[in-house]
Amino acid sequence: MKLDIKKIREDFPILSTRIYGKPLIYLDNGATTQKPKCVVEEIENVYYTTNANVHRGVHHLSQQATDLAEDARNVVQSFVNAKHNHEVIFTKGTTESINLVAHSFCQQFCSEGDEIIISAMEHHANIVPWQLQESIRGIKLRVVPINEKGELKLDELKKLISPKTRLISVTYVSNVLGTINPVDEIIEIAHKRNIPVLIDAAQAVQHLEVDVQKLDCDFLVFSAHKLYGPTGVGVLYGKEELLNKMPPYQGGGEMIGTVSFKGTTFNELPFKFEAGTPNYVDVIATATAIKYIKNIGLDSIKAYEDELLQYCTDELTKIDGLRIYGTSVHKSSVISFLVNNIHHYDMGMLLDKMGIAVRTGHHCAQPLMEELGVEGTVRASFAFYNTKEEIDILVAGIKRVVTMFAN
Ligand code: PLP
Repeated sequence: MKLDIKKIREDFPILSTRIYGKPLIYLDNGATTQKPKCVVEEIENVYYTTNANVHRGVHHLSQQATDLAEDARNVVQSFVNAKHNHEVIFTKGTTESINLVAHSFCQQFCSEGDEIIISAMEHHANIVPWQLQESIRGIKLRVVPINEKGELKLDELKKLISPKTRLISVTYVSNVLGTINPVDEIIEIAHKRNIPVLIDAAQAVQHLEVDVQKLDCDFLVFSAHKLYGPTGVGVLYGKEELLNKMPPYQGGGEMIGTVSFKGTTFNELPFKFEAGTPNYVDVIATATAIKYIKNIGLDSIKAYEDELLQYCTDELTKIDGLRIYGTSVHKSSVISFLVNNIHHYDMGMLLDKMGIAVRTGHHCAQPLMEELGVEGTVRASFAFYNTKEEIDILVAGIKRVVTMFAN
């Protein structure tokens, strides 16, 4: 279905903001997406009408808030098509979800010398938690390299797998290159050898339909704030069998069965992994965000964003001296680039003065920058509320910066 972008943009009041007197062109959606009115109104609505701590009270408001938060879990379950709603754990973000798995999975399943495979295009959130386990438990990280288009070398992945491999943890979509990795193939390769797979879907769920049962991934993680939802909410999907075997990540209220000074028993899934008061208001608003994008339709979103990606790629390619990093045919709406020897910060700062918000720097992927032989890039990342007119303004802005530097 063709999207009515003008109407959609009315749902996002921030898009009519002016920056330095110019209309905002928001192209930093990879970092965080803007929020539709319904999400912000839901947060306000919960605080004004239903706020009470969840799971703890017999009183009406507490039960109402609990019902809404547990309904939100069902919405996420259906969004990723998990088999059970207790396979959906709420965290504070992708980063916390990966830290949880790194901690609890490694505690249960890894000993000194065991190996975890990641890739060269991972966000720091899928590198550092494993490095912490290297120093705590003496595990070893193995890294799948990429080719010149920014695609994973699957042959190398096969070579890296050894009897010591305990888990493969890879990103679905690169936040720098935009590459959509063949995660189904990776999962098949891994499962043939009985190795579980974690998929970092932080840059995927807002662009592609994700079905955890079809993929058969063992863990999948993402953040609500990149999915048009609020900050402070993340999701960890995990297969029941694995989650049941893993010890808790944090201790505190809600994750317990009984507590005594002689010993403590733990609650069942999902609560075993949700210590303390959860961010239930934003969890409820996350469900609102998911309903909002489901109503627009991920198929339509993908088709439109693909159009924007193609258009922008074509236009950028016409600029002399502009180099795009990440040229896979399987690509999401993210473009990283550099022009001549113009520093990415200079480009970003000058575009900002024109009202254009792009991201500059290493994008929390320093090992990937090293691999690409650059210190950083400029990144434009698109959402379904962006337009070709905005891309024209970006392209004109880049040309202006190039002219300024030429003079
Ligand atoms: N993984 C990827 C691929 C990302 O792009 C990001 C954020 O940019 C993260 C993980 C971390 O997400 P968060 O900061 O929401 O925890």
